[in-house]
Amino acid sequence: MGKAALIDGKAFAAGLRDRIGAAIADLKARHGAVPGLAVVLVGEDPASQVYVRNKGKQTLESGMASFEHKLDAATSQEALLKLIADLNANPAVDGILVQLPLPDHIDAQAVLDAIAPEKDVDGFHVINAGRLATGGDALVPCTPLGCLLLLRDRLGDLSGKHAVIVGRSNIVGKPMAALLLRESCTVTVTHSRTKDLPAECRRADILVAAVGRPEMVKGDWVKPGATVIDVGINRIDAPEKGAGKTRLVGDVDFTSASEVAGAITPVPGGVGPMTIACLLRNTVEAACRRRGWKMPDL
Ligand code: NDP
Repeated sequence: MGKAALIDGKAFAAGLRDRIGAAIADLKARHGAVPGLAVVLVGEDPASQVYVRNKGKQTLESGMASFEHKLDAATSQEALLKLIADLNANPAVDGILVQLPLPDHIDAQAVLDAIAPEKDVDGFHVINAGRLATGGDALVPCTPLGCLLLLRDRLGDLSGKHAVIVGRSNIVGKPMAALLLRESCTVTVTHSRTKDLPAECRRADILVAAVGRPEMVKGDWVKPGATVIDVGINRIDAPEKGAGKTRLVGDVDFTSASEVAGAITPVPGGVGPMTIACLLRNTVEAACRRRGWKMPDL
């Protein structure tokens, strides 16, 4: 490791989960009820099964109610929409998360847009995306929200900083750009058609990589002292660990970037653990808004 400070997302997420746990105990004492999160999984994608298991486990550990719905891969879109309608109408359910990807025969955006916007704790509903873009009270997608919390913790006031985001997906790049604009950063969003990506990245005080390409962002793309947030989670072969072994790497070449950056998130242990912690946070927020409770300070 070079001279960059390590941004410990695992520790920050653990602290956030502790604060959420305390807030839920307090809400229970005041109101005699706890927030509830429903997670819907369609099919047997192994990575999705792990995510859903972890979400359910951490929801229960926080003291919230967890409702898990595991549906067969052949479930029709109609049946899934019926379940969403039931969850929308269920007063014990404050947050609804449909694990992506959905099977090919289902129109994912139609399903996401069927979730009541006030229960859309993933923040993927077009109403929440629109509110975020126009400065309204949105539920914000969990991964970019996690990145923002890490940046605020590290840098304090972000206004006037030049943020460069690599990637423009609806779940990471675009909401990240909207959030950083809301913080009064000067924001550049780059993508696969960007000309001279290394030069764009070198202008960044804050560099967020959300590309899905292992170790693409090199140390000489990083401005000295910049804060680097690596959202990527890529599994690559690791023959040095033995035949058939793999390891996780980010979208940033950690070895070279950490020689130049001021601070950097590792993979694993950086942005990854923040995502579920922010999902729990969004569920508390959704519950407080819907039930008229005062939002705790998290
Ligand atoms: P997408 O595949 O939806 O988007 C990737 C973006 O990167 C696109 O905008 C694409 O550009 C851009 N891109 C691809 N190749 C290049 C290139 N060579 N140069 C510049 N830009 C490029 O990915 P996601 O946003 O869903 O995810 C990004 C990464 O973050 C993945 O590694 C994913 O696993 C990880 N992730 C991690 C999460 C966490 O909890 N930590 C949660 C979500 C994602 P274009 O639009 O032009 O095609």
